[in-house]
Amino acid sequence: MNSKNILFSIALCLTTCSIIEAQDTKVIAHRGFWNTPDAAQNSIASLVKADSINCYGSEFDVWLTSDKKLVVNHDPSYQGVKMETSTFKACTSLLLNNGEHLPSLQEYVDKAKKLKTNLILELKAHSTPEQESEAVKQIISMIKKAGLEKRTQYISFSINAVKEFIRQSPKGTPVFYLEANLTPKELKDMGCAGPDYHISAFYKHPEWIKECHELGLKVNVWTVNDKKDMRWLIDQKVDFITTNEPIELMKILKAKTD
Ligand code: MG
Repeated sequence: MNSKNILFSIALCLTTCSIIEAQDTKVIAHRGFWNTPDAAQNSIASLVKADSINCYGSEFDVWLTSDKKLVVNHDPSYQGVKMETSTFKACTSLLLNNGEHLPSLQEYVDKAKKLKTNLILELKAHSTPEQESEAVKQIISMIKKAGLEKRTQYISFSINAVKEFIRQSPKGTPVFYLEANLTPKELKDMGCAGPDYHISAFYKHPEWIKECHELGLKVNVWTVNDKKDMRWLIDQKVDFITTNEPIELMKILKAKTD
């Protein structure tokens, strides 16, 4: 190879590397891609639509019902029905805004098997640690049976749930903590894959992003809908951005590589 070709190869490599680096931040649709016609937050449609626009992942929220079954919903209650103290039948009989019934986790998982997007599964903080341990046990078993272990990440505000996911899941399963009250070192010591913190935590502690990467942790940030925030986080090289505006985020990521 003559010197001209070597220089060209180096230039090509640098360009390719910079594209890979710029594309590193991955897009996670918060409660699925729901901000679009015929979808609703945490609906099966929002999972399918997140997949259809090639989101890296689709986030959703899980509760254990009074008869120990798993359903997908964000708030503790929906239409006056409290998830933790109501039966599976009472919860899944409710209708979402797009006409679907409130999904069971099994329905979510069955649909995900036919898709490519990763599952970002949030277990909500329950009233007792026993409920959370039972939920974690069932979730891990369901994900394993579905063959989705390599496509699932777990997140929770409950430190107990995070510890249970780490304890019960196969070694190396990514588990992220949502409550921004632990430092990167504390997360690492706990066995977490990293923080999944509100953006305000990283404006307060921008040094945490670099510290996480030096410790081998990944950084996820929620819920980032403002373009200025998206640009700042991409420049900080965070690994994942969780957003209600996945298409806007994709446009910004694409513009950075063009
Ligand atoms: Mg959530």
